[in-house]
Amino acid sequence: MKHLGHRVFGKSVANRDIEVFRYGTGQLSILLMGGVHGDETEGTFFVNKFRTELEKGKIDLPEGITLHICPQANPDGCADNRRTNHRNVDLNRNLPTKDWTGAFTNVRFYPGPHAGSEPENQAILGMIAECMPSVIFSLHSYENPMVNFNGDSEDLGQAMARANGLPAKGDIGYPTPGSLGTYAGWERNIPTITLEILRGQAHEQVWSAHLEGMNVGLSYYLTHKLPPRKG
Ligand SMILES: [Zn+2]
Repeated sequence: MKHLGHRVFGKSVANRDIEVFRYGTGQLSILLMGGVHGDETEGTFFVNKFRTELEKGKIDLPEGITLHICPQANPDGCADNRRTNHRNVDLNRNLPTKDWTGAFTNVRFYPGPHAGSEPENQAILGMIAECMPSVIFSLHSYENPMVNFNGDSEDLGQAMARANGLPAKGDIGYPTPGSLGTYAGWERNIPTITLEILRGQAHEQVWSAHLEGMNVGLSYYLTHKLPPRKG
């Protein structure tokens, strides 16, 4: 299937486009993001391949869905194979959550000079405001792979976990102020899955390990009731 729209939601610090491609015309709006952390290539690979396989007609999108795909939310980090953006900010600690803090324990998690300071996150906020997703998937990688669910979406997380064999967890093990899971999931009750793929997994294996689980996740709210939005 061909995309029905392509939009640039902003520019990165180094002036790269932050793009979103739209597929399908269904009522259930879903945002699928990759490349928030530019060195977590397993997630970026999966999102890119999902998009190109859709374009080639090798996979289908179920009826009832409008899927917005942002292949690289942090294009500078992806280009440089690094976690942070071009100003060394961890974008997943910089979103304007109520618990945002300028404190950090490790430079990997530098949250920026103030909440929402980074252009990449302004683009992500624009996507959420305009695409109005009912569900968000953001693909990362981590040495402890898991389906991290945020918001009232444990059932969604468990359904994906049954398909991909990873544990479903509502808590990654340490606080993540300024994260997408907190901003969209816990504060707005938009079911938000941070899929932590096994760090270092070969790309062909990433694809086969996660395709079914992603399909389960994308289709989940076609047959289950969405939790009430808040915020
Ligand atoms: Zn990550």
